Amino acid sequence: MRAFTFERALSVEAAVRTAASNPDTKFIAGGTNLLDLMKLEIETPTHLIDVNGLGLDTIDQTPDGGLRIGALVRNTDLAADDTVRRDYGLLSRALLAGASGQLRNKATTAGNLLQRTRCPYFYDTAQPCNKRSPGSGCSAIGGFSRQHAVVGVSDACIATHPSDMAIAMRALDAVVETVKPDGGRRAIPIAEFHRLPGDTPHNETVLEQGEFITAVVLPPPIGGKHIYRKVRDRASYAFALVSVGAVIQPDGTGRVAVGGVAHKPWRIEAADNALPNGAKASAKELLADARPTEQNKFKVDLVERTLGAVIAEARG
Ligand code: SF4
Repeated sequence: MRAFTFERALSVEAAVRTAASNPDTKFIAGGTNLLDLMKLEIETPTHLIDVNGLGLDTIDQTPDGGLRIGALVRNTDLAADDTVRRDYGLLSRALLAGASGQLRNKATTAGNLLQRTRCPYFYDTAQPCNKRSPGSGCSAIGGFSRQHAVVGVSDACIATHPSDMAIAMRALDAVVETVKPDGGRRAIPIAEFHRLPGDTPHNETVLEQGEFITAVVLPPPIGGKHIYRKVRDRASYAFALVSVGAVIQPDGTGRVAVGGVAHKPWRIEAADNALPNGAKASAKELLADARPTEQNKFKVDLVERTLGAVIAEARG
């Protein structure tokens, strides 16, 4: 690990100002991904700002009946919150499907959104990787790609986003609230928050240097059955091969977002509209532009089957 300096943030504004003035600065909260990346020298910040003391760890009702989740709410606390369990069950279930109990105790809401891919080549500094080292190439294309993306891919990167929580938030139309270096505030729909890889897979979100997430806001509850189904190589502590997060209404309409298939939580409006016609029709829309590799083309069928299981569960 490289040497770095460290400070505890006293206010959001001060933390943002410091981070904006030094591009080698990182915010740290739970550190469940960042510290691993620093030990491997994939992330090499020269300065860390500990934001744990900023008090952004509450879950509050919004005036319109939605929920504002502070950026520093731990994954365990969010999953166990009574309102989340009652009104946003999809979010609670997705959180509990992720990582381990110990990691969920440390991991935060904002950090979960910002965690980086688990592509094995990204973590192997002896291998070319455009995300880690722009312009060096992509070892997964033509290499081991069983776990990689099948939609939204580019010739530069086929990595997936690893978060379970983000799949639920995408289906629930969450909005990410931030403070920018100039003090301005933004409300970013989660659909626009994560980027596709394109030619710049190292740019994973639309955040500016120094921009800080303060909260994630959920709209008022929409009812329906909330189901999160994660398919993985072992029963716990593994990332999704495919996951499906859905809210299905009694008449069969609903929303569906898919994980393990793209560089961002994957949701297509046409797939939502096709839900009443069944899993085949909806999955066809979800994966209309799929470009799987020989090793991960099984995911195309797996999405349809997992979605079929979710719809069957919703119908009881
Ligand atoms: Fe790197 Fe992306 Fe290729 Fe993985 S898929 S090796 S993260 S460029």
